[in-house]
Amino acid sequence: MSWLTNFVRPKIRALVRPKRIRESLWEKCPECDQMIFHRELDERMKVCPHCEHHMFFNPEERLSHLFDDSEYETLILPSAVSDPLKFKDRKRYADRLKDARSGNTDKDAIIAAYGKLCGNPCVVCVLDFAFMAGSMGVAVGSGFLSAANVAADRRAPFVVFTASGGARMQEGALSLMQMPRTIVGLTAVKEAGLPYIVVLTNPTTGGVTASFAMLGDVTLAEPGALVGFAGPRVIEDTIRERLPDGFQRSEYLEDHGMVDRVIPRTRLRQELGVLIDLFVNKELNMSEGSLAFREELRETQAASRLVDDESSIGN
Ligand SMILES: [Zn+2]
Repeated sequence: MSWLTNFVRPKIRALVRPKRIRESLWEKCPECDQMIFHRELDERMKVCPHCEHHMFFNPEERLSHLFDDSEYETLILPSAVSDPLKFKDRKRYADRLKDARSGNTDKDAIIAAYGKLCGNPCVVCVLDFAFMAGSMGVAVGSGFLSAANVAADRRAPFVVFTASGGARMQEGALSLMQMPRTIVGLTAVKEAGLPYIVVLTNPTTGGVTASFAMLGDVTLAEPGALVGFAGPRVIEDTIRERLPDGFQRSEYLEDHGMVDRVIPRTRLRQELGVLIDLFVNKELNMSEGSLAFREELRETQAASRLVDDESSIGN
């Protein structure tokens, strides 16, 4: 057997390995099935170059793309009681948490950071869909509350990126209690006279939609994001009717007044910068980057109006 294990197996591994490496350099777009080179995907912030599908973007990547020079302070969030109900379904909740945390004992589905965005300090919260579907339990509720209080204390605008399957059912009624807790946090932000901006990302559902995700002073969304309370399949089964195309997607919600603007990920940082500038600064005091971008926006809007006018003349 030693000949097989010592000689044949390494030879076979050596043959197989280069193929594996080549495969890992590419990623398949779940929407259009095109293969995309990893480096290109990273440069395009995980947006497909063929169909503009916005793929999963992890919170750390998001924060480093968002803040000026990728510099920010990660806020230390309060730790919460793990598994308060000693819940068990097919697997123990404690084990599910341990798997999701993979060594990082304090981690949960929320990350909060403080830094400068286009020159203006702000507090940003990101829900991590990769951690138990971004579900909201006691830890997420406490984290949100704490980040909102930091925003109020430091007099910084509060920006939240949502991505969640809803309440964390393994925490039962305690997870539902987080909905009013997040509202308490938002009240502190609003009483301090600070803006609260929500960016809805794919998917945002359940208890998160039913609480802080729908209370933004401005509600933005990434293209194609599914946003709703119950999913479309549940609604179709309940009302026994076929739902319209694009139902519960950001563009549909923008058309129906639930979302203010749908903004591609690659432009989010600049547009958030402009918004925050408009909220906190006087026109004269706006940062240079923001002013330049506003000018650019005006020009593109003027150009598109010109094209519209010309096409209407033709008609
Ligand atoms: Zn694609």
